[in-house]
Amino acid sequence: MHKDIATPVRTKEILDRHGFSFKKSLGQNFLIDPNILEKITGFAGLDKSAGAIEIGPGIGALTEHLARKAGKVVAFEIDQRLLPVLEDTLSPYDNVKVIHSDILEADVAEVIRREFSGLERVAVVANLPYYVTTPILMKLLEAKLPIDSLTVMMQNEVADRISARPSTKEYGSLSIAVQYYTEAEKVMMVPKTVFMPQPNVASAVVHLKMREHPPVQVENEEFLFKVARGSFVQRRKTILNNLQASMPDGKQHKEKIVAALTAAGVDPGRRGETLTLQEFGRLADSLYPVFG
Ligand code: SAM
Repeated sequence: MHKDIATPVRTKEILDRHGFSFKKSLGQNFLIDPNILEKITGFAGLDKSAGAIEIGPGIGALTEHLARKAGKVVAFEIDQRLLPVLEDTLSPYDNVKVIHSDILEADVAEVIRREFSGLERVAVVANLPYYVTTPILMKLLEAKLPIDSLTVMMQNEVADRISARPSTKEYGSLSIAVQYYTEAEKVMMVPKTVFMPQPNVASAVVHLKMREHPPVQVENEEFLFKVARGSFVQRRKTILNNLQASMPDGKQHKEKIVAALTAAGVDPGRRGETLTLQEFGRLADSLYPVFG
């Protein structure tokens, strides 16, 4: 086995050799601890029958651990300056493909079809750029890709919101959107000291297991998320108040909103943060004929 990229000494040596300087605006905080990488790839449950998709390989710290465990790795990197670095650091591995692309612009479904035929399943594993965590996750989830799970490092505060249960202060429209598609669990807190440079915020790893079927059947998914977002606009207000403020011409439709809440079995005096995903599902369906 080759010496790990993810040690402070080797990382510094690679950065110096290529004259690389970090771009804060791209969320470049590289991992320098092989133990953390072993844990992350362990949570992802990879073996040689699996393909791995990585977002933002950096200098390849996580990529090489994925290459050792998975059948094939495809990594999307936005920063062109890292391409020659990755060609160098990942040269011992013949099962890695780096694609120079913004993940938000990429046709990931097409890449999966093209690159992972013959493999049994696909997992996403990444130390995400924190400035775009939510857009990246929502893009991958909404695309309904043929993937099993996502094991992703992110800002701890976002990890808490994603995995939050009803009636907690972290619970909100992001919890609902992510938990609609996945079973979400925060699996590990990660100290700042394992990054170079160290980020300003605490980090955590979240494991998102894709659901085979959504936990609630709704007329229209987009409308469910709209209702959820609208129910949390002012957290301290009742759901009735929030829906009146967020639905089109909601003020004029108070009676209809009360009727929809009642039909869904939700007391109009409750706060959005107390509703389960099932309750939001019922509510979305009874509001849909009025506002959909
Ligand atoms: N995986 C490496 C590691 O753990 O050491 C680097 C992780 S670093 C937190 C995030 C990486 O994502 C950087 O390499 C950055 O250039 C890349 N990146 C930032 N925005 C991106 C985007 N929109 N699409 C693809 N890669 C992106």
